[in-house]
Amino acid sequence: MDLFGHLNDYDYGEVHFKLDKATGLKAIVAVHDSRLGPALGGCRFIHYESDEAAVVDALRLARGMTYKAAITGLAHGGGKSVLIRPREHFDRVALFRAFGKFIEDLGGHYITAEDSGTGLDDMEVIRSVSKNVTGVDPSHGGSGDPSPFTALGVRRGIEACVKFKLGKDSLEKVHVAVQGVGHVGYYLCKELHALGAKISVADIDPLKAERAQREFGATVVTLDQIAALQCDVFAPCALGAGINDTTVPLLKAPIVAGAANNQLAEPRHGDDLHARGILYAPDYAINAGGLVNVAQEVLGYDAQKATDKTMKIYDTIWDIVDRSKRLSTPTYKVADRIVEEKLSAVGK
Ligand code: NAD
Repeated sequence: MDLFGHLNDYDYGEVHFKLDKATGLKAIVAVHDSRLGPALGGCRFIHYESDEAAVVDALRLARGMTYKAAITGLAHGGGKSVLIRPREHFDRVALFRAFGKFIEDLGGHYITAEDSGTGLDDMEVIRSVSKNVTGVDPSHGGSGDPSPFTALGVRRGIEACVKFKLGKDSLEKVHVAVQGVGHVGYYLCKELHALGAKISVADIDPLKAERAQREFGATVVTLDQIAALQCDVFAPCALGAGINDTTVPLLKAPIVAGAANNQLAEPRHGDDLHARGILYAPDYAINAGGLVNVAQEVLGYDAQKATDKTMKIYDTIWDIVDRSKRLSTPTYKVADRIVEEKLSAVGK
């Protein structure tokens, strides 16, 4: 693999590797950028087809964290760790303890959190050997489930878009189509329902869609219908790449604003939305509420402070959409430019 070629392509940064034969730990810690503060980002623990796939995943994800933290005004850089999940039997506690020692040795340069394949129990194991961990048990100063904070931030981003594009000060009777009502989508529906919005939902899991119907009066539509619905806001809250060659021509909503990461299948789909006059809230800016919450844990957890900071996602999104209009530039490019300006302002 052309490791340094990849580092060059993603503008790195540094990468740390750890092999611990005794536990089967194979860890990659990618610190993309730490000019704004220590790198903060989750620990992914899944199977990979190859070591190269794991490294590229870590590089890509950590870079995304730099952008998310910077656009949100957090004093953190972007980092991510990837632990290659062993195919053979392993001792989970021993493996996460070895990982905890590894990140402790990085001296606070990288702070970890939960991500796909890891949970609170793993963070507690890491905590037994390192201070550089968030997402621990609330009884140990942890910040708990990030999803309600992510959903709050998405709701604030939707409010900013609705004000900017539709001139409305409230979400009352605003029709939002929520694609995916899992952790974040569920809490987003709760927020929207409390504000009098009209909600439509679709989920591959019919029980989750029915729960939104039961609790928030949502209308359940099919997976094919949700992106093409005649509504005010399309909120992708399922997997990435929901904005693609198939869905862009179908969209009838004037606003796309949701929680999913990597919503644009390719950057050019952001150009397509702009050309069609559809206002797109850049994913990493609108879905940063969960990161705000864990960043608060680093400072000493205070739910009210985390809430207040998450509410400011309205201003972040407003700034982006306003600049986008003034500069006639797609919102995703504006967001990237804001981040790059912030980073270059603090120097190399
Ligand atoms: P989740 O797995 O709990 O929810 C995703 C939901 O989408 C599930 O209910 C699933 O059944 C559904 N789904 C999957 N494919 C679908 C499809 N094609 N159509 C409709 N529904 C589909 O995940 P989550 O934690 O709610 O995260 C949702 C998205 O938000 C992800 O992209 C995630 O990366 C992103 N995100 C989450 C957080 C957080 O705090 N959890 C923070 C930032 C970003």
